Amino acid sequence: MNKPIEWKITAQDGEARTGILRTRRSEIETPVFMPVGTQGTVKGVRFEWLEEEMDAQIILGNTYHLFLRPGVEIIRSLGGLHKFSTWNRSLLTDSGGFQVFSLTDLRKLTEEGVEFRSHINGDKKFLSPGISMEIQAALGSEIVMVFDECAPGKAGIDQTRKSLEMTARWAERSKNRFNELQETGMDSGFMSESSAVAGGANKLSGRQALFGIVQGAGHIELRRESLEKTVEIGFDGYAIGGLSVGEEKSVMYEVLEFLAPKMPQNAPRYLMGVGTPEDLVEAVTRGVDMFDCVLPTRNGRTGSAFTSVGKINIRNAKFAADSEPLDVNCSCSVCRRFSKAYIRHLYQAKEMLAAILISHHNLAFFLDTMKKVRQSIKLGNFGEFRRDFLNKISEGESEDKSTDV
Ligand SMILES: [Zn+2]
Repeated sequence: MNKPIEWKITAQDGEARTGILRTRRSEIETPVFMPVGTQGTVKGVRFEWLEEEMDAQIILGNTYHLFLRPGVEIIRSLGGLHKFSTWNRSLLTDSGGFQVFSLTDLRKLTEEGVEFRSHINGDKKFLSPGISMEIQAALGSEIVMVFDECAPGKAGIDQTRKSLEMTARWAERSKNRFNELQETGMDSGFMSESSAVAGGANKLSGRQALFGIVQGAGHIELRRESLEKTVEIGFDGYAIGGLSVGEEKSVMYEVLEFLAPKMPQNAPRYLMGVGTPEDLVEAVTRGVDMFDCVLPTRNGRTGSAFTSVGKINIRNAKFAADSEPLDVNCSCSVCRRFSKAYIRHLYQAKEMLAAILISHHNLAFFLDTMKKVRQSIKLGNFGEFRRDFLNKISEGESEDKSTDV
């Protein structure tokens, strides 16, 4: 049978690589940053901008949030998350595991799954590998994630081992239920082979793809074990979970350096929930292909902009009469039109447009950075790009600190 996705390396520079990921709905160039659409919306940023200006080919949807509100039945009855939200390009849905473990308390974890109270109204809810697959089939995303348990970043070796063993058993249950759902036509986003996106050498099956998740916190040996177990089960792509959850940055880089090159060469590697522009570049250096993170929009709402010379906060009084854009090197529509002084005024006046404009610029900056990363890998000068990019940010940020005093 044809595959649900196809991924091919197009260029390589050290461990860094570019590729083309074809799903039934779009063709995605990797390394790729995927904007996060938690509640079926990328907070504050309209789809038109993501499509036309930033050319985002894939965004995320959150199983946990959509499960609680508006509820799976409503989305299913409206034809899945694509039809409900009108986002027609690719969607990746997470499994809900991370949110259950980070947002809720009063959890009861058993082999079967996890019982928890909704953070919205306290209702008792239950998620398991099977239920997560059912929800993600109803949402109809192109890429489905297995239901995993994410141990805290500083978890000890025994706790981490227990957690990754459970994750491996859950991965197997996820895959079994996933396959049943595909065969019984429960995927709201199903496309016939002929309507699945064309353009590559092979036809696609029109079905959903399933990614496994490697856990093991900062313990290198456990990461190796988790990777072996996950590859043995076999998935369309492989994710690295449980990083950037409170451990030191050096631990994250060390894990990536060890793990990424050992991951299957011919499948995309996805680093979940990471990170800053510097993190993305560092992870690409170590061989990662896909990223998602809430930082561009979360920081946008608190007045913090990512720029080519480091992070700035628009609340800073020194921008009160600054007629320059957020980033002089950015060509996004926000930077082409509005000054820091104006955006700062909107922010101080609590106008909602301030958060919208900064979120928009931040996403444009992340996507543009990935575009430059891809270009430099193709040209074989990624090392040079990385050095310049990181230098400008650290110089800018240290200069910023010195003018603050
Ligand atoms: Zn901009």
